[in-house]
Amino acid sequence: MTIEEYIESKREEMVETLARWVRIPSVKGEPSQNAPFGKEVRRCLDTAIADLTRLGFSADDVDGYALRADMGEGSDEDALAILGHLDVVPAGDNWDNEPYSATIKDGKIFGRGTSDDKGPVIASMYAMAAVKAAGIPLKRKVSLILGCDEECGMDDIEYYVKHRTLPREGFSPDAAFPVINTEKGIIHALLTGKQDNSGLVISEMNVGSRPNVIPGEASAVINVPDRIKAVAVINDYALENRISEKLEDVSEGKLRITVFGKLGHAAMPEDADNALVKLLGLLRALGAKGAVKTLADAFCPGYDGSGLNIRCEDQISGKLTENIGVLNIDESGNVTATLDIRFPISMSEDALIKTFGSVLNKGGVDYEITHLKHAHHVPAESELVRALVDSYSEVTGKRGYAYAIGGGTYAACLECGVAFGATHEGEPDMAHQANEYIKLEELVQNALIYAKAIAALAGK
Ligand SMILES: [Zn+2]
Repeated sequence: MTIEEYIESKREEMVETLARWVRIPSVKGEPSQNAPFGKEVRRCLDTAIADLTRLGFSADDVDGYALRADMGEGSDEDALAILGHLDVVPAGDNWDNEPYSATIKDGKIFGRGTSDDKGPVIASMYAMAAVKAAGIPLKRKVSLILGCDEECGMDDIEYYVKHRTLPREGFSPDAAFPVINTEKGIIHALLTGKQDNSGLVISEMNVGSRPNVIPGEASAVINVPDRIKAVAVINDYALENRISEKLEDVSEGKLRITVFGKLGHAAMPEDADNALVKLLGLLRALGAKGAVKTLADAFCPGYDGSGLNIRCEDQISGKLTENIGVLNIDESGNVTATLDIRFPISMSEDALIKTFGSVLNKGGVDYEITHLKHAHHVPAESELVRALVDSYSEVTGKRGYAYAIGGGTYAACLECGVAFGATHEGEPDMAHQANEYIKLEELVQNALIYAKAIAALAGK
């Protein structure tokens, strides 16, 4: 039997398996015996073990943190890893159908986890089974590793590394095609400073939710001893900088300004428009001093880092980008804000921190690094990337290539790991969205792509 024939014969079985998995709401829950991420995640793990056993693999339960199913012989370290996950984020609102119903409509299967990451995991599982059914002899071990805590903290991989040997090389079907071989580094910092009331007095400002979210709306309440003059400044500034804003009188001498932008993710600032940055510029024009002015000076020049003296780029990963995602001012005039930086692989994180730190310090703003993720890169010329690109091209008929992103993927857990699928080019990224789905045709096609990749990288 060929790989193609096997996968074709398993179409319905794959869809049925995915539907069963999606009906398990494997959101992180209360830990219990052998279920460190809650009973639903445990139930999904048991279901996966049963399905893998049915396909002829013996699955190793890594104490409820992860599972591993192997094929072929060889050391764990040299195995080809396929790294996916069984946990899902909560369903959230605005679904047309019940999020765990696995509704099939218009050639798609809808439900939380269909595309992130249960569908791609099932495609990988049947890809391994196809290679086995086709009788392709293997030169190395292939290890399917399924984590149970990808969405909240990655304690699964931390545990795995302590109790098993993680392969050096592999791919993760937990992002997008063709191949993501470069992930910029990420720095998060908490910025703190003081309001200077000798300038504009800001009596209320609470903007944003998370460091990695670009606020689409930002507002502040300011004291306006001279309302006419303040409104004139606001109108001039808004006109000159093409800002859309709204003014409301809160009480005598107090004005609320709301500025509108476009909500987005810090990894893709080019698709968004930071409303907080616009508001900072406006507050500076109104006479804000102290930390607010320092932050306006740092962020208004653009998200390329120029205001922080850290503008840089390299050929492989592109430009550095930054985002101010949150800003709060409390009653005592304490200003706190968050900074998110996505930096190119060739940059030293220490040098970056030193440079932007000194710019902020000079303006009376302190910083504390709250999160640091090293940049990650696997060369495009490597055997791994070339084989994946070729498998993708062969099955889809499209040109394959490797590219860089500003976000992080599960693949970075592997020393030589790349993300490979499963969102197709031109398709919306449905991960964490309402009405998450995967096209049935793509589920089957993905299995074929992964099977070709396994045969190329682990076949004799
Ligand atoms: Zn995922």
